[in-house]
Amino acid sequence: MKFGRLGDSGTVVLEERPEPSPGPGEVTVTLAACGVCGTDLEKLRGNYRTSGVLGHEPVGRVAKVGAGVAGLSAGDRVFVHHHVPCYACEVCARGDYTFCPTYSKTNLDPGGFAETFRVPRENVERSAVLRLDDSVGWDTGALLEPAGCALTAIRRVGLPDRARVVVLGLGPVGLLYARLVRALGASWVGGTEVAPLRRAAAERGGIDVTLDPRDPEAVRAAVDRATGGLGVDLAVVATGHPSVAKTATELVRRGGTVNLFGLPEAGSRLNADLQGLYLRGVRVVPSYATTEPDLREVHRLVVEGKLAIADLVTHRVPLREIAEAFRLAGQPDTAVKVTVTGAAAT
Ligand SMILES: [Zn+2]
Ligand SMILES: [Zn+2]
Repeated sequence: MKFGRLGDSGTVVLEERPEPSPGPGEVTVTLAACGVCGTDLEKLRGNYRTSGVLGHEPVGRVAKVGAGVAGLSAGDRVFVHHHVPCYACEVCARGDYTFCPTYSKTNLDPGGFAETFRVPRENVERSAVLRLDDSVGWDTGALLEPAGCALTAIRRVGLPDRARVVVLGLGPVGLLYARLVRALGASWVGGTEVAPLRRAAAERGGIDVTLDPRDPEAVRAAVDRATGGLGVDLAVVATGHPSVAKTATELVRRGGTVNLFGLPEAGSRLNADLQGLYLRGVRVVPSYATTEPDLREVHRLVVEGKLAIADLVTHRVPLREIAEAFRLAGQPDTAVKVTVTGAAAT
């Protein structure tokens, strides 16, 4: 079978290997679709040094079920979460599951961009395989992981009632975040984004105002108008650029929160007025990745019709053309979300 992996010098390449078979407690899944994430692109750019496994937003059909697996059968439509915490360490005991030292060491084999991938026993045992409701299509399914990341972030920051929120950067994950805070009762949601295609996707999703960040005075004026000059309750940094993090610290109200949500550029530093942050009581809260309960909650919001996201998928590219999928995903004027598709999609 074929799978996509990180090649030399910033490329994604297709490689051949034997199809995996499930060991005891494991399952294998035939790919329907897997989103190309901004972090996959950063891995190609050498800006995100982790295991190097590509593809972590997969949906598909269970192919084979290993010995001792209960509750899953061949043919089931599923989303699979690539990382699971240990649920046994002190970090997990405090509820900070995504920061468990085990979490980012777990993964699918050989990753989500594969004709068939193996789901290790710990993922199966720890509820990382989520059966999709019949009403949830593959496009929506492939957006559950990034939407889950947004929900986990929203929980970490603690969204106040009728919050006023600005999302800086309306890439796929910023768009999901903006739609989620809207669904969860935010009274005003603004967003900044250079690419008109992505601003249009925000406006379609009920975002109140979208602005071009190259005009910072217009952004400031819009926030002031919406908040009576107070500043927003929550400013979400949904890009990796350090100057955007600084802007966020300036757009929040006294006592407000900046959420570092996008993967920051490697080696970047926050250049903010520390005494200003101190005296204004600004909280800076990073959030990374998501948890099984939050993924299930996003799935529930979609099934109940409270969150619509499928329209964010603009391109579906077959696995054999994975390099083209990555090229498109890096073009904000052409694409919002790009998925790589496999045999189970048809
Ligand atoms: Zn991702
Ligand atoms: Zn743990």
